[in-house]
Amino acid sequence: MDLYEHQARELFVEHGIVVPKAEVTDSPEQAREIARRHGGRVVVKAQVKTGGRGKAGGVKLAADPAAAELTARQILGMDIKGHRVGKVMVAEPVEIEREFYVSYVLDRAAGGFLAIASAEGGTEIEEIAATRPQAVARIPVDPARGVTSAKAAEIADAAGLPPRTADVLVRLWQVLTREDALLVEVNPLVTTTDGRVLALDGKVTLDDNARYRQTRWGAEPQEHHDPLETAAAAHGLNYVKLDGEVGVIGNGAGLVMSTLDVVAGSGARPADFLDIGGGASARVMADGLSVVLSDPAVKSVLVNVFGGITACDAVAEGIVAAVDSIRLTRPLVVRLDGNNAARGRAILEARAHPLVEQATTMDGAARRAAELARTA
Ligand code: GDP
Ligand code: MN
Repeated sequence: MDLYEHQARELFVEHGIVVPKAEVTDSPEQAREIARRHGGRVVVKAQVKTGGRGKAGGVKLAADPAAAELTARQILGMDIKGHRVGKVMVAEPVEIEREFYVSYVLDRAAGGFLAIASAEGGTEIEEIAATRPQAVARIPVDPARGVTSAKAAEIADAAGLPPRTADVLVRLWQVLTREDALLVEVNPLVTTTDGRVLALDGKVTLDDNARYRQTRWGAEPQEHHDPLETAAAAHGLNYVKLDGEVGVIGNGAGLVMSTLDVVAGSGARPADFLDIGGGASARVMADGLSVVLSDPAVKSVLVNVFGGITACDAVAEGIVAAVDSIRLTRPLVVRLDGNNAARGRAILEARAHPLVEQATTMDGAARRAAELARTA
């Protein structure tokens, strides 16, 4: 889960990282009042979970409280890369001396973390990383050792950051590890003309697997950008929308991933990833089928089940109950294998639904589903 800038700031402050004074509001009148309290001149910043707000016009300097109100009115309701601005942060302006980029990000391939830092932080960082990668230092961090003062000094030195920014690097590592984050990013980290080091922006992505102990942000519903994913989540289904035309349902994430591969190998494209899990009850099968079939791009559906603790005959009963409880509008290819496969197949055969056919192998099932999708 991504946090808003104002939430990331909260964590920074708790770990001793200095940030500009600021308040959040959804009202232009209040923005004026906040500006008045903070001495008049302020920066008004859109609170959206995406970067590049500055370039999109979502970060503006206001010279006085009246300008702050006007600016807040302009920014509130704005659309930034598909995110509607519901709140603005009104912040004390900072006299920037230099802007730096620092982040820690999980490096899954390396099984560790990566510190990324640059002496050329600010809104052009993506551009700089693309055109002059040598201006961005990438230092592996051993998660067991973490970022000590010595490690922080090494990172700062590699990136050409002033030594006095090293303390922030240590504290930022504490934010990452203690708050269960997968990513923490400060861009820009600035030095000011009055000699301070401040985090002027903050991005934090929390590990959803740690939600149970990061209950502070728990009130926020998980974001699903796709309406089908929203519907699936409401049924507690593990569904990811993809771009193809063959609907995929299977039991077990590994099996479903393999199924996506064999569908692709058959020259078709999978329309989704749906893991109905070990239980595979009639109810779950019916919910899963109706979510998959409500995708208009789906031309055929491949159900790939390997019977384990839940045997194939139970799954077959589930499929029969499901196709009888919903209006099946597109062909279904079912491959049952594993525990009680023969009994499961017999149950489907006995039902003899005109749109349901069976295949004995995974490859054969994928080829048939692909063919049905092509000729639909
Ligand atoms: P982003 O575009 O979404 O990354 O938003 P940021 O919060 O990073 O703001 C973009 C840019 O606005 C920063 O890189 C700074 O150059 C500038 N900026 C933000 N706050 C201040 C401030 O208080 N004073 C000054 N002078 N510039 C600021
Ligand atoms: Mn930024």
